[in-house]
Amino acid sequence: MDFLSRLARGISPYTAGEQLNDKRYVKLNTNENPYPPSPAAERVLREFDASRLRLYPAPNADGLREAIAHAEGVAAENVFCGNGSDEVLALCFPAFFDGDGDGACFADVTYSFYEVFARFFGIPFATVPLRDRFYLDLSAMRSAKCRGYFIANPNAPTGVGIPLRETEAFVASVPDKIVVMDEAYMDFFGQSCVPLVKKYPNLLVVKTFSKSYSLAGMRCGYAIGDRDLIAGLFRMKDCFNSYPVDALCQAVCAAAIGDAEYHERAVALVEEERERLRGELLALGFTVPESKANFLFASHPERGGGEIYARLKEEGVLVRHWEKDFLRDFCRITVGTPEQDDVLIEKLKKILS
Ligand code: PMP
Repeated sequence: MDFLSRLARGISPYTAGEQLNDKRYVKLNTNENPYPPSPAAERVLREFDASRLRLYPAPNADGLREAIAHAEGVAAENVFCGNGSDEVLALCFPAFFDGDGDGACFADVTYSFYEVFARFFGIPFATVPLRDRFYLDLSAMRSAKCRGYFIANPNAPTGVGIPLRETEAFVASVPDKIVVMDEAYMDFFGQSCVPLVKKYPNLLVVKTFSKSYSLAGMRCGYAIGDRDLIAGLFRMKDCFNSYPVDALCQAVCAAAIGDAEYHERAVALVEEERERLRGELLALGFTVPESKANFLFASHPERGGGEIYARLKEEGVLVRHWEKDFLRDFCRITVGTPEQDDVLIEKLKKILS
């Protein structure tokens, strides 16, 4: 007797990057921020009253929603919070798509969780190839038959960003389709669609505390959009988990997003180092599309991505590699501190020599 469902037996789950949180590795494989979270967040963590954990947290994370709304320039009714932006993105599938209707559309090279979510929720989907190797083809996406889109901007794992005037033109051109804009890495680009949500009821922007706020370990993400879209997400959440964001997480993330000054400085450090690291990789002969995220997508003419990944791992540096189609030639390298990146460069020189 097989007790598993056809779904549990058949689905290919998302594979997260290796979490070998072993001090030996220089860990540049899951796009975490190399700097600590805001001191304001650390203070909340230190001073948190453990007896509060006796009680369930605010089910809709209202205090955190207020803090996010304030920082993003929207009303709290336009904000939804979840356990990582992965959870928010997951809930978008049953909230906005039907199994027997027109499905979701996304790029063939993008965040691979979209496909897993679509399969998990039984939502049909279509993929659109990138153009000129690295770029999202918005005009081909516009003419795809679908009910809505998932667009990672900047895209993963390429790091390529679409400027705001182009994303706005796209959203405006598909008024009857929902556009879920996954802005996990947008703070490293500064072309967010959040200011457009008041104008376009078909736009939902999804963001995270995991990257620019250095809080991947807290697991918190959020969506910003028209109140009807947000209400749909709440209905889905309440069919699944009443309290997805724990009390400590709500308090810490509210403090982090309130510290705009620290956030701006931390983002600037990563952006500056991204440009330096890209220059070093180009000098070593790598092809590296211009990145607007906190990672670089790099291939070398003489060495496969798998070989570079494996040799770097032997040398104590973890990067991300996929043994799949177009991705096979590349490694995705998270921008670290200048010291971490110097180790990476030194090891790459050794491997290439
Ligand atoms: N979107 C993209 C494009 C990502 O790369 C990631 C990180 N794996 C996420 C969303 C999810 O991030 P989190 O669940 O940590 O908010």
